[in-house]
Amino acid sequence: MNAPLPKAPMNWIAIFALVFLPIVAVIAIPLYAMNHDFSAAAWISMIILLGVSSLGITAGYHRLWAHRAYEATLPLKIILMLMGTFAVQNSILFWASGHRTHHRHVDDVDQDPYSINRGFWYAHIGWMLRDYPAAAPNYKNAPDLLKDKVVMFQDKYYIPLVIAVHAAILLPIGWAVGDMWGVLLLSGLMRLILSHHVTFFINSLCHMWGKRPYTDENTARDNFVLAIATWGEGYHNYHHIFQYDYRNGVKWWQYDPTKWLIWSCSKLGLAKNLRRIPSFNIKKAELAMKFKYAEQDLAIYGLNMTDDIATAKQRISQEYDAFSQTLNDWAKLKEQEIQAKKTAVAEKIHQMDDKLKLEFQQVEQRLSHHRETLNQLMRNLKKKTV
Ligand SMILES: [Zn+2]
Ligand SMILES: [Zn+2]
Repeated sequence: MNAPLPKAPMNWIAIFALVFLPIVAVIAIPLYAMNHDFSAAAWISMIILLGVSSLGITAGYHRLWAHRAYEATLPLKIILMLMGTFAVQNSILFWASGHRTHHRHVDDVDQDPYSINRGFWYAHIGWMLRDYPAAAPNYKNAPDLLKDKVVMFQDKYYIPLVIAVHAAILLPIGWAVGDMWGVLLLSGLMRLILSHHVTFFINSLCHMWGKRPYTDENTARDNFVLAIATWGEGYHNYHHIFQYDYRNGVKWWQYDPTKWLIWSCSKLGLAKNLRRIPSFNIKKAELAMKFKYAEQDLAIYGLNMTDDIATAKQRISQEYDAFSQTLNDWAKLKEQEIQAKKTAVAEKIHQMDDKLKLEFQQVEQRLSHHRETLNQLMRNLKKKTV
């Protein structure tokens, strides 16, 4: 049983944005629609601006500032800051620092600002409606942000910037398409509410629904449907184990528009040093989990131990030993690489690199082999136990 939440003062600004505005929306939008038609342009601008504000959070607030997953040039930083300001989720400094705390203390009921172990509503929205101690600003984990001029400028002038960005985006669109009220209600109000809940899903549903292919040490889940809703952030299990990777959907086919945006910015010279976790580490985490799941399945099948299950168990255990050996060999190669770099004379480094590269590739291929063998063994086992 979790300790009860401490009584905390209400946060009236958050209540205005997260409770009052949605109430206004559900009354005002249908009332307006009874007497007027929303123009197609108002609907289209709502969809585009939903992307603008959401990507400001995912590519800017989250992957750039909270995780330093890549470096951005000043023009890109300013654009992302303005896009994120348009999403009205507090300043970058507050958001990114709180998010670092979330990663550091994930699931801890007292220290994770939006711990899912306090329930869906708390993780989704409740944590913002009162000033709970877990979410109190503490910028000790953000010395880099305190030195970032764009971040500090936004933090200082946050409210005027929110108003200015809304005016600068919505009024010209409303005027240009000749549907000012339509644009204000759909692209202003409704877009803001949708954009809020899209982000909030990452803290709530992405810690509840989906698979855990990389780690089960926290509640974060990978979920394709949520990835669609959240501009690629739905691969949250991967993200919690490898938070510095600029990709959340790490496989090439996974739907992660934020990753594609950052990659495109790097091709345009606006971003650089995109951080990628080495593929060996990713495969290693995935395979370690597969062995764990195999062990859990075996424990269930094992209640009814037959010769087939006993043999499969033995084969899986052998494969696990081989997997451990591969990890040892990899660690030895890493050590060799470090030593080689220390001692080799400049002209030999290149030669050595090529040789080591080949050996690294060979060891990495062994991981694929372990995965295939394990998959095959588990498939056979399932067939026999059905
Ligand atoms: Zn999370
Ligand atoms: Zn994160």
